Amino acid sequence: MLSPDWLNEELQQIRDAGLLRRRRVCQSLGQGWSLIDGRRVRDFSGNDYLGLSEDPRVVDAARTMLESAGCGARGSALICGRTPAHLRLEERLAAFEQQPAAILFPTGMAANVGTISTLAGPEDTIFCDRWNHASLVDGCRLSGARFQVYRHDDLESLERRLTDDHGRRRCWIVTDTVFSMDGDLAPLPQLCDLAERYQAELIVDEAHGTGVFGASGRGVCEQFDVEERVAVRIGTLSKGLGALGGFVTGSQALIDYLWNTARTQMFSTALPPVVCAAATASLEILMQEPGRVVRLQQLCQRFRTLLADAGIPVAAQSVGPIVPVLIGEAETTLEMARRLEERGLFVGAIRPPTVPRGTSRLRVSLSLAHDMEAIEELAAAVISEFQRLAVEGRDGP
Ligand code: PMP
Repeated sequence: MLSPDWLNEELQQIRDAGLLRRRRVCQSLGQGWSLIDGRRVRDFSGNDYLGLSEDPRVVDAARTMLESAGCGARGSALICGRTPAHLRLEERLAAFEQQPAAILFPTGMAANVGTISTLAGPEDTIFCDRWNHASLVDGCRLSGARFQVYRHDDLESLERRLTDDHGRRRCWIVTDTVFSMDGDLAPLPQLCDLAERYQAELIVDEAHGTGVFGASGRGVCEQFDVEERVAVRIGTLSKGLGALGGFVTGSQALIDYLWNTARTQMFSTALPPVVCAAATASLEILMQEPGRVVRLQQLCQRFRTLLADAGIPVAAQSVGPIVPVLIGEAETTLEMARRLEERGLFVGAIRPPTVPRGTSRLRVSLSLAHDMEAIEELAAAVISEFQRLAVEGRDGP
């Protein structure tokens, strides 16, 4: 049993820095409500942007598959884990993304790590936005490529680095399309311009874009009309599609290569068929009801307007359902989140090291599972908490 002094000392350091993670038990009750550590709250912390995780058609599809296929996939996709449910989901994803082929991964994290680490190698350079998700960063590191981090969305900083990079086998630019802590969008058209100018390939992670941006919900690439200019598109089924699993869509050659080399896919058990059935049903709903994307944007717009009218600071570039309400100090942010929770409103409190010191924030995550009343209740509570801080002379950032 490993419990030496050094482990306890390290834990104490995390505790002393006020960064010890709290483990909570959350149970979704549906329609945006959850039971969190026994308290019934409106839950604004998840990523189920379209409310599809609880859609009766998705639940029915999963139930039917569960009864016929059981729980687990029994093995990796290359051995015995790839069922007709996997094949169908691959086909639907490729059709949805208007690409020749698709491959599934156990999670979005596995898709990012596995794809980047096999495409790039030690002879290459990867240029990575400073605020990219941990799974992109881990994929870059694991590839062994020369790893260059550019300042967030700073195209000049990126171009300088691209200009200085000579004699490498291949260059890759890797970016989230929606940054999950700031809710802002990567400047994809400009990144495509730079990639083309310097013969680099652009890899994007649409984790928070799928189902949320673009007229058909294909993400930020669709919104900016750059789908044909992006080399590799990675996505997840766990957010806008309300299920679980990662995927890559692209040319048949790319997908065949990943089938043969992406270790997080080859050496991991395939997604349970029940999850594939749920994700396929979600995807079909999204394809048949693109109006959901518009409705989500309207809900977000209403919330943002309520906060803006009251002068509440929201991360300047944020758009869509991730609304970061800037507080500043970690302790004040935790206190604010706790007070909101006491009012029955659950939002994430984000602090260092996830975000830079002094920029702690509430991360409000909106979803079609919320109705307008929920949105207005949250806005009113946030505004009144800010007013309390002002009265106490503890204004935000
Ligand atoms: N990329 C981004 C930008 C994310 O925010 C996340 C999840 N937080 C992932 C990838 C990983 O996706 P998954 O949860 O499906 O593993």
